[in-house]
Amino acid sequence: MKDTTLYDELLGLKQPWYVAGVRLEVVKQEVEVEVRSKDTTWACPECQGRMHIHEYTERRWRHLDSCQFKTIIVCQVPRVQCSEHGTQMVQVPWAEKQGRFTKLFERFAIAVLQECSTSAGSGLLKISWDEADGIKQRAVKRGLERKEEKVCPRIGIDEKSYGKGNKFVTIVASIQEEATIVEHVGDGKGKDGLRDYWSKFDKIELQAVETISMDMSAAYRQSVIDNVPDAPEKVVFDRFHIMQHVNESLNEVRREEQKELNSMGNTILAGTRIIWLYGEENVPERYNNILGELKGKKLKTARGWALKEAIRGLWKCSTEKEGQVFFEEWYSWAIRSRLEPVKKVARMMKRHLPNIVSYFRHRITNAALEGINNKIQSLIKKAYGYRNTDRFKNDILFHCGGLNLYPEIC
Ligand SMILES: [Zn+2]
Repeated sequence: MKDTTLYDELLGLKQPWYVAGVRLEVVKQEVEVEVRSKDTTWACPECQGRMHIHEYTERRWRHLDSCQFKTIIVCQVPRVQCSEHGTQMVQVPWAEKQGRFTKLFERFAIAVLQECSTSAGSGLLKISWDEADGIKQRAVKRGLERKEEKVCPRIGIDEKSYGKGNKFVTIVASIQEEATIVEHVGDGKGKDGLRDYWSKFDKIELQAVETISMDMSAAYRQSVIDNVPDAPEKVVFDRFHIMQHVNESLNEVRREEQKELNSMGNTILAGTRIIWLYGEENVPERYNNILGELKGKKLKTARGWALKEAIRGLWKCSTEKEGQVFFEEWYSWAIRSRLEPVKKVARMMKRHLPNIVSYFRHRITNAALEGINNKIQSLIKKAYGYRNTDRFKNDILFHCGGLNLYPEIC
């Protein structure tokens, strides 16, 4: 088999395209494949009108490596002069318009970049960091263009900080049984973070929203109420976020008490922070004895712990009514506890109770969004932080957007 025929086959070229020559540059570790076209009429890429060649222009594309050799396609590409659309380069089948890589290379690069950071990927692919970033940006753009914008019935909202922790984006995810995917990344948090998402839809479309899970945030809740019809009863304050608040309050009780005891030379609480935060059934065996012992002492922390364990039972209720009754019982205990941080959370929960017990109607949590959160956190780590907001948003959609990123091979 001649090398030109071999590359004809490898590139899958069809008439009128053919490989005219193959040059191996051993020193540069490169294979240059020259593609030409037979004389024919060409379609204007805009109107598909057939016309003759006006001129040629040389273009080069990086293709998949041939063994360890970087492979470049070189072609004198015909340009046509359309009376309506001016001078245009005809569409080549192996690359997208304006692309500097072949579609097959770009597909491979996307698959690589899905698995590693931009810098690691660019190293593996032997392309520059900017080129790798460009491939990711084009991939997301392609994915978004193909995506059908429609309202998700079950939505999770969360904020995510980045930069030095003082910049925020708002993540809007569709929570489905099959998968949770990021639908939208908004700039900022609260109302600002959601504005662009709502503006994609009209009021009638937004009726399709069934439920929205979020942290106890007045700003997000208000934004939902302002935009989604019949929203107040659709909002569910996420149980994991609520438990986080409860755990924080317990931690505060423990910290204060530890300080107090330390000043009297009593170190009984030293090194126990983590032990109190486990759900009782998840306490590692090595802590069981310590916890058992501490529970028996007259400690504020032990009282706070019992309250924390008790409220976990709320989500075992089966109806809103049952949840309300359960909460009121717990609340009167919490309020009499003389533990200020716990009382504070209890009051906050009471204020928000309708949107806490709405869980029993909608059965939604942000648990799946937590998985996405972890993935985003690892993106931030791999990228050594993000200074550029657009790049951060693009990376979130590239990795968590469930988009069809790949160029189509015809
Ligand atoms: Zn035209």
